[in-house]
Amino acid sequence: MRHAVVVGGGIGGLAAAVGLHRIGWRVSVLEQAPEFGAIGAGITLWPNAVRALDALGFGDGVRDLGSARLSARLCAADGRWLTTLDGARIERLLGGPVLPVHRAQLHRLLLDALPADALHAGLRVRGIGRDGSVPGLDLPPADLVVGADGINSRVRAQYWPRAPRPRYAGLTAWRAIADHRRGTDIVMTWGRGAEFGEIPLVDGRTYWFFAARAPAGERNPDEHAHLLRHLASWHPSITELIARTPREAVLRHDIHHLPGRPDSYVDGNVALLGDAAHAMTPSLGQGGCQALEDAAVLVAACAAHHDVPTALARYDAERRRRTRLVARASYLAGRFGPYLANPAAVAARDLGARLLPQRLAIRTFQHVSDWTPPRIAAE
Ligand SMILES: Cc1cc2nc3c(=O)[nH]c(=O)nc-3n(C[C@H](O)[C@H](O)[C@H](O)COP(=O)(O)OP(=O)(O)OC[C@H]3O[C@@H](n4cnc5c(N)ncnc54)[C@H](O)[C@@H]3O)c2cc1C
Repeated sequence: MRHAVVVGGGIGGLAAAVGLHRIGWRVSVLEQAPEFGAIGAGITLWPNAVRALDALGFGDGVRDLGSARLSARLCAADGRWLTTLDGARIERLLGGPVLPVHRAQLHRLLLDALPADALHAGLRVRGIGRDGSVPGLDLPPADLVVGADGINSRVRAQYWPRAPRPRYAGLTAWRAIADHRRGTDIVMTWGRGAEFGEIPLVDGRTYWFFAARAPAGERNPDEHAHLLRHLASWHPSITELIARTPREAVLRHDIHHLPGRPDSYVDGNVALLGDAAHAMTPSLGQGGCQALEDAAVLVAACAAHHDVPTALARYDAERRRRTRLVARASYLAGRFGPYLANPAAVAARDLGARLLPQRLAIRTFQHVSDWTPPRIAAE
């Protein structure tokens, strides 16, 4: 039985581990947190990610977690509607629904598919051998090492010392889940250099986030109170939603990204996956989706080729260009969308959003969501 050691039990690492387990590999997932779990409230899965999950055998499970066929509305900070994208039309043009899910539930779905002895929590990897050896853990030698340890990847630092370093994107984000729902549509509000997103979850709660330009590391003693003050001039449903969110549920993280990607995502039998390989700005909500695509492609390559370097060469060839394009699209979507700050540019942006036909607006997302996973079939 072949053995993979996966560093990092985030969405990407778990999806890769589950897929490899399903094709008959032994897997060991090493996670630094004391318990496997998810930070970050909700996550939106685009049709490309749902297809990746289908390939990995989780499509139906994840569809049960998400509210399908949501329409999306975009409005300005003062509450003026700019445009509405109809849910049925989104589904038809993108070839599937956009599914917002609770991160913890997605994690649970993946975790439940792994044997308990595959999971090693509370283990912070500082360095790892090509055979998967880490001090203090006695495991059989690994055929494959997967670095799925996020944007500050230790595996990347060890095997790709010259790879680009994470950079602050100039943005900070607050996220939470409110036990309350105002409507059934996704509502995005664009201001000057900031956006607020309100995303209904299937269980009647709402995942919301606010992202804005801010100096790195800035923090307030009470982020909940800060947001209520900061957003007081935005349309009142936003502050109503925040007011109905428990104070301790509000998370704040600065957003970093990798300004470039390593020349290769593989080095011998070591592969980078997810944010470790290509952390991107979250404007398109694709970072996790790309990690799931990575996992599906890695598993398909390992199923098709017994020889690990051959499988990894295929993985690298399929993933580098695609993730570069999506990262670029995400960066541009933010830069020329919500994070425009110049008042004249903001007025032009809002007018453009009002005038752009719905079909064309949805089509701008097609190049991102048009992706089909390879079939996972043994050699
Ligand atoms: C505000 C915001 C909103 C977002 N919204 C979306 C969205 O709607 N849709 C979407 O697809 N993406 C979204 N993303 C991006 C998404 O969250 C990430 O791309 C995704 O979580 C990456 O998954 P990953 O498994 O590669 O890395 P991570 O989720 O970062 O997981 C890495 C794991 O490795 C562990 N780890 C790290 N170092 C070590 C170590 N040395 N030893 C052992 N374990 C280690 C960490 O504890 C963690 O569990 C958003 C991001 C932000 C910031």
